[in-house]
Formats: sequence, structure tokens, C-alpha cells
Amino acid sequence: MTSKATREFLARKHGLWIGGKHTLDYTGGELDVTDPATEAVIARVGLASAEDMDRAVQAARAALRGPWARFTPDERTRTMLRYAELIEKNAELITELAVLDNGMPIGIAESCSMFSALFLRYYAGWPTKIAGQTLPSSALGKRPDELFAYTAREPVGVVGAITPWNYPFGMEMLKIAPALATGCALVLKPAEDAPLAALLLAELAAEAGVPQGVLNVVNGLGEVAGAALAEHPQVDKISFTGSTEVGRIIVRAAAGNLKKVSLELGGKSPVFVFPDADLQHAIPGVALATFLLQGQNCVCGSRVFVHESIAEELTSGIAAFAKGLPIGSGMERSTMIGPVISGVQKKLIEGFFVSAREQGARCLTGGEPTTGRGHFVAPTVYVDCKPEMRVVREEIFGPVMAVQTFDHDNLDALAELANDTPYGLSGSVWTRDIATAHRMVRLIDSGQVGVNCHAAMDPSMPFGGFKQSGWGREFGADALELYLRTKAVTFTWT
Ligand code: NAP
Ligand code: MG
Repeated sequence: MTSKATREFLARKHGLWIGGKHTLDYTGGELDVTDPATEAVIARVGLASAEDMDRAVQAARAALRGPWARFTPDERTRTMLRYAELIEKNAELITELAVLDNGMPIGIAESCSMFSALFLRYYAGWPTKIAGQTLPSSALGKRPDELFAYTAREPVGVVGAITPWNYPFGMEMLKIAPALATGCALVLKPAEDAPLAALLLAELAAEAGVPQGVLNVVNGLGEVAGAALAEHPQVDKISFTGSTEVGRIIVRAAAGNLKKVSLELGGKSPVFVFPDADLQHAIPGVALATFLLQGQNCVCGSRVFVHESIAEELTSGIAAFAKGLPIGSGMERSTMIGPVISGVQKKLIEGFFVSAREQGARCLTGGEPTTGRGHFVAPTVYVDCKPEMRVVREEIFGPVMAVQTFDHDNLDALAELANDTPYGLSGSVWTRDIATAHRMVRLIDSGQVGVNCHAAMDPSMPFGGFKQSGWGREFGADALELYLRTKAVTFTWT
């Protein structure tokens, strides 16, 4: 049973949030929002056309000339701290909306809600610390006492943010927090499969005192509203999280006005388990590297490499662990595996079951389509995998692990296996040997590597991909760079 606040929120008419106001003036049609666990329609949202998107961009441009431009850094900090408090105050509503909209188990939704506040607080500390430099210039043939040279950091301007559906509230906050910290204005286009979170976040921002037009939320279809945002000539920067395929489309769309682009894209991350690993720790750790959130993680560690001497113990342990994960509605406290996001996604994942079978992988658990209501997919483990198999090469975005074995200690050869992919997002190494760990960390071509853990995330730690997994870093001080521009100033007086 959901709370009264959640029922009331769902029952509302959901339009667009433009210029600090909710508006039902949308012209891109409407969309049903469904609960992936029951397939029931839980809400309806209005969708933006390209013209509606243009209004949102204009509102953001106007906001950059309004009171927001005169906020002191301390005022930005205090506004962001109030915003974080409001998120905590609404934690139950946020948690329930995330479960219903995305299907995630309630425990993950709670972490997501807490993470949004934590992330905002981290960035709330930054406005008073963003600074340029005084530089020892001797331009124009001047001596240092005849000129003053410095850099100023300015907000990049209007940011278009396009987000995926896998962590409602979290994904949006990755864009909102650094944009507010740096004094930018934002137009956010959430994923059509999880459109509710951003609308609530916009409301809470307004309540916290974020001036009108600074955060606009415009739901809409990717090919319509997303495309209009990506190509809009008055958008200065696009921050995109989603698939590598759409990432390429964004880059092309941004070429018109050469807007700045940062991309957080897909992955197919490697996990190495060495013979000396602590298997009691590694079995659940490696299992969850794949199965957490039904495998719908960009950092999903589904490409597992294990030494032959421990392969049987590791894989049978993981299969037993996977079988023991309770599957069901995310609203049930006991659920560890909720539904995947949609029927389309379920079909895509089940297609991998067919290819794995045809290509000769051996299934230890799962691997069969489920029937009945809700988009459920059982955690699946394949062994005897080969590098050319589709389950090994392609990002599945489902709870499917592909295990390969090795029988030597040539780390360079292992790294070649790890890096035989167009992606480079995450990865992990499970061993008690310091030298093996450090060498593998160096050799793995990914933006993030864990030792005896997979994909540890903290607001202070830069996150992003090498190769075709992305451009730029979110999280930490690095993310601020994406939202700032540097002006070089030279002052002379003689
Ligand atoms: P997606 O299909 O690429 O969609 C992402 C966003 O782009 C959605 O808002 C989508 O709108 C929009 N979009 C689609 N076509 C567009 C177009 N032509 N122009 C502009 N925008 C467009 O990805 P997804 O299925 O939502 O999410 C899964 C993918 O995201 C996976 O590949 C995953 O690895 C990646 N991901 C990466 C990270 C990371 O940080 N590296 C984090 C999470 C997810 P619609 O929803 O309306 O289609
Ligand atoms: Mg989509």
C-alpha cells in the first residue's frame, strides 16, 4: 500500500514544468506511465513538442539574466541545502515513486532517495570554492607590475540534460546539482519510461527557492523533445546519459551551434576473480555486480573471468546465490529482484537467452522466459562462454552473467581480454594479492576499477567512461568543469 502523498501525486495531471510553473500547455501528446511489476497504468504525463521545448529553453535563457545571476555563492549554497532537506522530508514519496515508475526494489529506491540528498549537499559546498587564478603573465611586453592577469570561472549557460530511466531521482540529480552549484540554468528531458521523478524534483527546487526558469522539466519522446533540445541553437551544453547509440546522435545534433557535450554511456564491464580471492566475499559481490537492479546498470559487471582452479566453486556459489534472490514487486520489503523496465526490455533480454543457447553457452540458472503479469526476468548465469558470443560482447541491461575461465597468470594477456570491447566504463578485480590488484588496475582500460568491490560510488569520486563509454566525468570536482567556462582577463594601466 502506497502513502497518501504518493496516491495524490499520481492522481494529478502531469504537464511540463517551465519558468517555475507547472503548465498543461503541452502539444506533444500524452503518455501512460506504467508500473513494470503490474503493468497497470499509474499516471499520465503530457509530452512536449519541439515548440514546447523552445519555450523551456527561452525560460532558461531568461533565468540567466534574472535574479539567479545575482545570487551570491553563499545564497546558492543555502538554497541547495534547503533543497536537500526537502528531498529528505519527502523521502517516502520519492522512494515510492521510484519503485512504481521504475520497478526497483524498495531498498534500492531508499538508497537512491538518500543519495540524491547526499549528492546535492556535496555540490552545495562548491559555490564558495569555485575560483579562477591570478597568473604571471608578461603579455604585451609588460612587466608583472604593469599588468594584472587572471581567469574567471563562469557558468557555461543553458544546459540541456537528457537522462535514462534506470535511477529516477539519482540520474536527474547528477545533472541538477552541479548545474545549480555553478549558476547554470537547466532544461531537463527525462526518459519516457520514468518521467515522474523530475517533475517532483522541479517542484521541490522551487519550494527551496531556486528562481523560476533555472530548472525546467520537459517530458517528451527522445526523437522529438530530446532531439529538439540537443539541436537547439540557444542551448550551450548538453549533458547526456544513456546508450552509446543515442550518444552518437546527440553528438551529431550538437554540431549545429557546436554546443559542449558530455556523455555517460553504456558499458560491458569486466570482472576478474583470481585463485586467492576470498570467495565468501566474492560470490555475493560478483553476483550483485551483475544482478543489482536486474542488471540495468551502466556499470554492470556481467563479463566475468575466473581462474579455472576456482571456477566451479565460484559459479555454483553464484548460481545458488542467484536462485535465492527473491523476485517480485519492488514494493515488497523482501524483494531483491524486481521487474525490468518494460516489455520491450524483457523481450530484448530473452533474445540473449536464445543466442546464448545457439552459440553454445551452458546455463546454470535462469535463461528461460517468464510468463504472467509484470516484466520479470530471473537472474541468469552462463558458463563456458567464448569471447565472440553475443552475451559476452553486447550490453544486455538485464540480469545476465557470462563467465569465461583462464588457466594462467599472464596479466597482460588477461588485460587484452578485458579490453577487447568498445566500452570502458567500470571493472573489478577480486584478489588478496596486492601486486596482482595494482597491476590489473593499471591494465584495465576503464574509467572506474574496484578491488574486492564493484562500482563503488561516492559524490567525491569522478565517474565516467573511457573509449565509447563517454566523454567527461560526473561526480566530484571534475563534474564542475563540464558546467563552467574559463575567461582569461588581462588588465593594463600604462
Ligand atoms: P537511451 O535509449 O539512450 O535513452 C536515454 C535518453 O535519451 C532518454 O531520455 C531518451 O528518451 C533520450 N533519447 C532517445 N533518442 C533520442 C534522440 N534521438 N535525441 C535526443 N534524446 C534521445 O537509453 P535508456 O534506454 O534510457 O538507458 C539505458 C542506457 O543508458 C544503457 O546503454 C546504459 O548503459 C546507459 N546508462 C549509462 C549511464 C552512465 O552513467 N554511463 C548510466 C545509466 C545508463 P526516450 O526515453 O523518450 O527514448
Ligand atoms: Mg528509450
